[in-house]
Amino acid sequence: MTLGEALAFARQQIDRLDARLLLQYATGCSHADLLARPETPVVGPAFDQFSEWVTRRAAGEPLAYLVGETEFRGRVFQVSPDVLIPRPETEVLIDLARGKLAGQKSPAIVDLGTGSGIVAISLALEYPGAIVSAVDLSPGALAVARNNAGRLGAGVVFFVGDWFTPLAGQRFDLIVSNPPYVAEGDPHLELNGLPHEPRMALTDQEAGGTGLACIRRIVADAATHLRPGGWLLFEHGYDQGEASRNLLTAAGFKNAFTHPDLAGIDRVSGAHL
Ligand code: GLN
Repeated sequence: MTLGEALAFARQQIDRLDARLLLQYATGCSHADLLARPETPVVGPAFDQFSEWVTRRAAGEPLAYLVGETEFRGRVFQVSPDVLIPRPETEVLIDLARGKLAGQKSPAIVDLGTGSGIVAISLALEYPGAIVSAVDLSPGALAVARNNAGRLGAGVVFFVGDWFTPLAGQRFDLIVSNPPYVAEGDPHLELNGLPHEPRMALTDQEAGGTGLACIRRIVADAATHLRPGGWLLFEHGYDQGEASRNLLTAAGFKNAFTHPDLAGIDRVSGAHL
C-alpha cells in the first residue's frame, strides 16, 4: 500500500485531518512528503500501526491519546488517559493570569488540578520570575505533568493532594484552576471522545448537581491561601459565570468578573481579595 492509498482508506472511516495526522505519526512522513510523494510505499509495521489507530479513532478514541501528545499554545505536551486533553479555550485562563500578574517580579502562583500541567507550565515559561506550584489528586496525572515540565524546561513544584490540602500554611499571589465543572448528568459526557477522558477531570461526580462542587470548594478555601490583593481565576462552563461571580462575592472577594473565550462563551471568572 502507498501513502496515497493509505490516506484514501482512512478517509472513508475518519475525519480527513485526523487521517493525515495519524498517517504522519505512523510513518514519520511530513505533510509535504504526503503531497509530493503519495506513491511512497508504507512498510508493514507502520501500516499496522496506522490501521490500528484508524480503527480506534473511528470508534471514538481521541487522536491525542492515540499518538500520546498534543499542542497547546504552541508547545507540545504529552498526554495519557490519566489527563484531560488540553482545550484551546484554556488559553483564556493563562492570558488573564498574565494580565493580573503584570508588574510583579516574582509572584507565587499555584495551579489546582493541573492535569497534564499546561496551565502551570505555560505560566512558568511565559512569566519568568514566577514561582509556580501545581497540585493534582491523581498520581498518574502528576507523572504526566512532571514529565511535561521536564521536557519543556519549566520549573514547577508539584504536590499530590486534594485541592488546597497539600498547601497548608502557603500563600500565593495568584491561584488558577481548570477544575472539573461538567454536571454529572450532562449528556455531553457521552459525546466527542469524553468517555475516554478521566471522569475526575471532567465532572465533580455529584449526582444531580450543577457541576459547581469543585469550584465551590476552591472559592471557599482560596482566601486563606492568598496574599492581600491576590487573585483567584478559574475556568468554568458556559452557564456558570453568574453562579461563579456570586460565589466569589459571597466569599468576600472584590470585583468579580467573567471573561468569554474566543467563541464568545463565558469561560473564566475571577476576583481578588
Ligand atoms: N471544557 C471541557 C469540556 O467541555 C471540560 C473541562 C473541564 O471540566 N475542566 O469538554
